[in-house]
Amino acid sequence: MKIKLDRTRCDGFGVCAKHAPEHFPLDDWGYASLAGDPAIAPQDEPAVTRALLDCPVHAITTLPEPSPPAGENATVAGGTAPQRRIVP
Ligand code: SF4
Repeated sequence: MKIKLDRTRCDGFGVCAKHAPEHFPLDDWGYASLAGDPAIAPQDEPAVTRALLDCPVHAITTLPEPSPPAGENATVAGGTAPQRRIVP
């Protein structure tokens, strides 16, 4: 799971920092930024997903996973998870 934070949409509600403070530090005015790698470790995905779903202005979105190279059999055991995308 890779995420993106659009700081131009952030309204400083701080919900993301409550759910996943290590990923969404707040500045002095309460606006969030994305700390570290946008690739989220599997153990952090539940908290980051909660932050994504609870952000009132949908400033946090997932980035598409890279596609397998063309021509390769891209079957993955268990299938691929659908992208979580919130359209305002
Ligand atoms: S929950 Fe959304 S609006 Fe609130 S601080 Fe985080 S990114 Fe910004």
